[in-house]
Amino acid sequence: MNAVSMSYDPEARRETPLALALKARIARDGPIPVADFMAACLGDETHGYYRTRQAIGTQGDFVTAPEISQVFGELIGLWAAVVWRQMGAPSRFQLVEVGPGRGTMMADAIRAARRVPGFAEAADVVLVEPSPVLTETQRATLSQSGAAVRWLPDISDLSPGPTIILANELLDVLPVVQLVRQEGGWRERVVRLDPSGRLDFGSAETSWSGALPAFADRATAGDIIELRDLASVTEAAARIASSGPFAGLFIDYGHEASGFGDTLQAVRQHRAEHPLTSPGEADLTTQVDFAAASAAFHATGLAVEPLVTQAEWLGALGIAERASRLMAANPSRAGEIELAIARLMAPQGMGTRFKALGVRSPGMAALPGFPSR
Ligand code: SAH
Repeated sequence: MNAVSMSYDPEARRETPLALALKARIARDGPIPVADFMAACLGDETHGYYRTRQAIGTQGDFVTAPEISQVFGELIGLWAAVVWRQMGAPSRFQLVEVGPGRGTMMADAIRAARRVPGFAEAADVVLVEPSPVLTETQRATLSQSGAAVRWLPDISDLSPGPTIILANELLDVLPVVQLVRQEGGWRERVVRLDPSGRLDFGSAETSWSGALPAFADRATAGDIIELRDLASVTEAAARIASSGPFAGLFIDYGHEASGFGDTLQAVRQHRAEHPLTSPGEADLTTQVDFAAASAAFHATGLAVEPLVTQAEWLGALGIAERASRLMAANPSRAGEIELAIARLMAPQGMGTRFKALGVRSPGMAALPGFPSR
């Protein structure tokens, strides 16, 4: 979700199949919370964005780090191999990716980590993917990997035992509740119908009675808070960590400190559009609040590494050396490789907008690529 054009028509509303279904639902049952709108747009079994299309890549709607350079997945594979050794090189462990998209990152990771003796033989590769369409793409991508891969539809289905979980651009698709500060309290932001029957944002009729983060006290009228329910991820991680060594790596775009603001964004064919324009036909995400995510993992008893930017993390893992070797081995592609690495590391772009969050069992040593506390 990089380099998207930010000019769009806030009035545009397309009559997608999901827009029609949601309008009928709202006319019948009343406005729906933004979180439900997001969940429907991305995951509706018939019309949901990830259920129906090849979202990722130059032919899709947005490009992700593993699709920009093979070095991204390769470094993650080598990182996983070091972590596996820190775990005592268990003879069996789960190498899990949640939300693997096209399967590119796992394919690159496995290929690179084969150099580490014993790792590939010990790895039970598990992909957690709710979308049948993307599952098929991942199957094709990984068919030459030499690894026996299993698929699960839900992270809560993961088995216990030594486990490494990887996820790139997963947290940003998990739905958020949006709350708007109004006179007299907080109201949940909803999607409703305007007088002419078009989808529109509004606020719930009654005050929000759920929990609020501490920084909510500082709000002034109109401020928006986004609350993401990470329980499915944090509970799975904590449950697995209670049964053996566990490490998790979550890379995503977002901010280091919690704050106010509406970050809901839609992207279709590499352009930003108003989030109500194309329900089910655009990617719909919000920026990750990494302070809240770190706190949610910490609250389950996991150790959380200091947050680093993607550029710091890839730099610490030796991206420059790896890119040089790849360029030397492929001189005709050197320029292309250099450009791709520059994009991943860009100080005003992906390098700093994306962050790496590392979590682990408290008994394990600090994870590679993160500074020690
Ligand atoms: N990691 C990939 C894809 C990112 S897009 C890459 O970097 O290219 C988000 C991915 O998360 C898609 O594969 C999508 O189908 C998946 N996804 C969406 N909701 C999910 C959920 N609740 N659990 C697991 N995966 C989910």
